[in-house]
Amino acid sequence: MNQPEWNIKAPSATCQVCGRAFTDQEPFVSRLTFGAEGYERCDCCTACWPEARKAESLSIWKSVFRVPPPPPPEPIRRETAESLLRQFMETEDPSRRNAIFILAVMLERRRILVERDVKTREDGLKVRFYEHRKTGEIFVVPDPGLRLDELEHVQKEVITLLGGPAPGQPSNEPGESPSHESSADQPTESDA
Ligand SMILES: [Zn+2]
Repeated sequence: MNQPEWNIKAPSATCQVCGRAFTDQEPFVSRLTFGAEGYERCDCCTACWPEARKAESLSIWKSVFRVPPPPPPEPIRRETAESLLRQFMETEDPSRRNAIFILAVMLERRRILVERDVKTREDGLKVRFYEHRKTGEIFVVPDPGLRLDELEHVQKEVITLLGGPAPGQPSNEPGESPSHESSADQPTESDA
């Protein structure tokens, strides 16, 4: 198999049938197909959809177009679940399969991704389609069908990669606290 099992597909800024640019907050329909060239995404306006829907699809979902926000002013220093997921999905390393799945589930719980569909490909692979709430990208993530004990193991690995315990779990690590308590008013030894 030459095609990677996972993929991220960004939305098109224009209808791929009539070529008209989407406006902000415009509803549109997306279609994903899987063929010899791998995953292919087609976005079209609601007017073009009756024609576009005749093609065979792996998954179809409705979405709302959002004009992309400007890039963040500063690069994010710390690895986040999202940056790690994107990093892993750029590789074709099969050992990342479980971690990719866990990261996608984590981001779904945090409401960054929303699951749009679950389908079984013709080759038998079960894939989950997550839509990024802000960017409209579709993350195609194979479901490795992990058992609960495997799930916990992979989850721990991922949390270690992220450099700390998952949110909601107590952190006993000094210096890991995300709070910004100022120590400026406290005298230090060098001041004395
Ligand atoms: Zn159109």
